[in-house]
Amino acid sequence: MSTTPQRTNLLGLPRAALGTFVEQLGSKPFRARQLMAWIYKRGIGSFEGMSDLAKDFRARLAECAEVRTPEIVSVHRSADGTIKWLLRADASQAFEMVFIPESDRGTLCISSQVGCVLDCSFCSTAQQGFNRNLTTAEIVGQVWLAARELERGARERMAVASPPDGLREGRQITNVVLMGMGEPLANFRNVVPALAIFLDDFGFDLSRRRVTLSTSGLVPQIYKLAEETNVALAVSLHAPDDALRSELVPINRKHPIAELLQACWHYLDEQNGRSVTFEYVMLEDVNDSPAQARALARLLKGHPAKVNLIPFNPFPGTHYRRSSPQAIQRFRDELLQRGVLATIRRTRGDDIDAACGQLAGRVIDRTTVRLGNKVIGVAVQP
Ligand code: SAH
Repeated sequence: MSTTPQRTNLLGLPRAALGTFVEQLGSKPFRARQLMAWIYKRGIGSFEGMSDLAKDFRARLAECAEVRTPEIVSVHRSADGTIKWLLRADASQAFEMVFIPESDRGTLCISSQVGCVLDCSFCSTAQQGFNRNLTTAEIVGQVWLAARELERGARERMAVASPPDGLREGRQITNVVLMGMGEPLANFRNVVPALAIFLDDFGFDLSRRRVTLSTSGLVPQIYKLAEETNVALAVSLHAPDDALRSELVPINRKHPIAELLQACWHYLDEQNGRSVTFEYVMLEDVNDSPAQARALARLLKGHPAKVNLIPFNPFPGTHYRRSSPQAIQRFRDELLQRGVLATIRRTRGDDIDAACGQLAGRVIDRTTVRLGNKVIGVAVQP
């Protein structure tokens, strides 16, 4: 795998774009499907071994294309089986991805940006500032890389040389969530083609219910997303009223709760989706009272909504505390009693700082203009 910059990284091209690329190389567009099968089903990244492609086509590909994933800077393994990879974005920039194994599924949590502009007060990524958007190839490359690494790990444990059909056998990544670093809808242009590759039968072939995009609530982009994809939607709500939500999730000042919920129901209607998951981080004495649970139930009752309560994960410098297990349970009961589905997210990987909101990567902030600790301006992204 070379890193020659003028080569096209095929991980950045959804099927139609790959077809055009293949055509430009003088081959038939349908070869894109064969190429994708090698890359995504079998996990093959070098062209020599793609035996059903013509020899000279393989040679052309080797000249002007590549399958290049982000480089691994370090790997951290939690006592609970969670694995966190620190990945290189540039010489001085890094971002993170996390694999969370469970008995019935394996979830890969990927990043969409190096840092984040949104400045949610309880999130450690926000503290890092923003550096840049990840490219489609870097977003897709995370899943491709994790699949390969997990496959290699499994093979080593079982001491088998090579499974007959590559990655599809004993596939460990069953779910992909865009809940790592960054705001996926602020990187719409690169995220949407990545989603297409996740769902494509010739790509990762994941069902739309097993790919989840989580957003802090960029309302116009939720409407746009409804036109482009039908993956599952999760929304970081975190408060039942605008005053508190604006404090926790500052984008709420621009797009308040009522507008946000409208966009969510629109998304479900357009996509024939089952429900929207509302994430709610449990912060002691901030948003965890029974009265707040009742207010939340009033907002969501009768709508296709699920609430996922996330025990706050602390990070250095934060003034927030995690709600007690009793408070979280009580909050959940209040919701359930009012007919609102609610689950409590089990904290995973916190011993390696891999839990929700703990992903900090290595970000050199390029956009925020800071006055002391306060953000006073945010540069607009291209
Ligand atoms: N920017 C997107 C996706 C990234 S965050 C979003 O806001 O949805 C994924 C989830 O983790 C979000 O619900 C986020 O609010 C939550 N989260 C952030 N910081 C956290 C923390 N310190 N403890 C627990 N959850 C946190």
